[in-house]
Amino acid sequence: MMARIASLFSLSVLFVAGLLIVADRFSVAQSQTASETPAATAPLPADGTSPTAPAQEAPTQTTIPATPASPPPVATAPPDAPAPVVTAPPAAPTPVVTAPPDAPAPVVTAPPLPTPAPSPVVTAPPLPPAKPALEGSKAVAKYLFAAKQLPSLGKAMAIGYYPSGCLAGGVELPVNGPNWQVMRVSRNRNWGHPNLVRFLERFAPAAAKATGWKGILVGDMAQPRGGPTPFGHKSHQTGLDVDIWFMPMPDHTLSAEEREKISAINLVSDDWKGLNPKTWSPQQVAFIRTAAEQPEVERVLVNAAIKKELCRVAGKNGASWLKKVRPWYWHHDHIHVRLKCPADSPNCRGQPEVPEGDGCSDKELAHWFSDKVLKPTIAPGGKPPKPITMADLPPACQTVLSAPSAPAREAKN
Ligand SMILES: [Zn+2]
Repeated sequence: MMARIASLFSLSVLFVAGLLIVADRFSVAQSQTASETPAATAPLPADGTSPTAPAQEAPTQTTIPATPASPPPVATAPPDAPAPVVTAPPAAPTPVVTAPPDAPAPVVTAPPLPTPAPSPVVTAPPLPPAKPALEGSKAVAKYLFAAKQLPSLGKAMAIGYYPSGCLAGGVELPVNGPNWQVMRVSRNRNWGHPNLVRFLERFAPAAAKATGWKGILVGDMAQPRGGPTPFGHKSHQTGLDVDIWFMPMPDHTLSAEEREKISAINLVSDDWKGLNPKTWSPQQVAFIRTAAEQPEVERVLVNAAIKKELCRVAGKNGASWLKKVRPWYWHHDHIHVRLKCPADSPNCRGQPEVPEGDGCSDKELAHWFSDKVLKPTIAPGGKPPKPITMADLPPACQTVLSAPSAPAREAKN
């Protein structure tokens, strides 16, 4: 009896051993039978971690992406873009599948090699929360300032220089006023030093009166705490600059969408040497003149073709206000009004006084119509300017940045 049991036992041992050998062959040969994949799947999808995983790792990864497993990794990467994801997958699996045929042999013999090709593909997507460095004096200032939705709490002060500074205690210009509407509201740049907000509240009705317009359209002022902007301007950093469109305010309240989509009128001809007769009107002269005549205004920037026309129209009598109107690049669809440093801002740096005279001489204007300005050559390999870091700004701007926020305002409409 015992002998029979023993022989049965040894037979079954042999049988099991035989099965194991067969199974092992199968797995090494990496045949794509369904039975093998489940075993292989286990270590892998758990993040493609496991540098410890043995030789099977390579085959497994090859079999999986080829089958339904491919979508998940792709889907995790772009949370906000489902449409492109749909088109991507067909391409992705093929390279992954084609690679393995060579891979298995070397991988089997050399287990220590930790990460085969596919794993970077899997691990990469979760990693990039691509945000700029948020701390330290080398941090790029524009992202830090753009991230602040509210002004700093406390006394208002313009700090630093127009293209290198910030704004403490910023005040918001309401998006709708009796004679103005704010454009591009989504940018959250309708903030300024109280002097700028007061200026606009006074200038809007004055400009409306001088031009016969219903009011003005206000473009960018400053971010809640001023500072460099991620796009659009070099200046506008201290809460003393504002762009105002060459365009009458319409008689209805613009919708949020209209404020984003409507474009300002271009007053300048295509060759940049004269005006566009279809858009230019005498009201524009009154509009610019009214801005330049305000005592707190330091400069009004316009395109050179506009300055030339103002010189022609105003003649010698216009020197008192024309000298503040300075030619500058672009500014063909808006004026840029810059205020003097406020008395309450000891750390604000103003620009030098504008030179005497109306700025209308041929000598003064010729530069703006030269090829150097109108047809600039871009140096091959020219580097983009270095972004402004916190270290480039006055130290007080770090204080402004880390100050508590002023109370939230009413919702914008
Ligand atoms: Zn501007």
